[in-house]
Amino acid sequence: MASIFTKIINGEIPCYKVAENENFLAFLDINPNAKGHTLCIPKKEVDKIFDLDEETYMELMAFSRKVAKAIEKTVVCKRVGISVIGLEVPHVHVHLIPLNEMKDATFQHKVSLDQEEFVQIAEKINAALTE
Ligand code: AMP
Repeated sequence: MASIFTKIINGEIPCYKVAENENFLAFLDINPNAKGHTLCIPKKEVDKIFDLDEETYMELMAFSRKVAKAIEKTVVCKRVGISVIGLEVPHVHVHLIPLNEMKDATFQHKVSLDQEEFVQIAEKINAALTE
């Protein structure tokens, strides 16, 4: 069965899109640790990150770096943290999390945003992307 993220890639379920190219997609985490929490995924559905072929792995990191730079320009934070967990969704995803305090990195502390805030932050990060 297709992962929930493959359904997002295929447009079967919606997302707040931040960036996209031929092989990768970035969108806002629906249950964010902090405003601007973004997931970067390969369109190729693979469960565990270290099972990616090396080229896709390297390209995912380069794509994530680009998105992280845009988040840093957009969201007030001390830095953007990176985590890979995957215990909930078996489709590789890199969490990019704007960090101000250690609790932002813990996945225990969540923030709630309304739809308008999700739309606005996704648009702002997208506008800050540089090639
Ligand atoms: P994990 O697999 O433990 O790394 O966590 C999966 C992450 O995906 C969680 O932070 C969820 O909030 C997020 N998530 C699950 N479903 C969606 C969705 N439909 N859109 C955006 N984020 C999602």
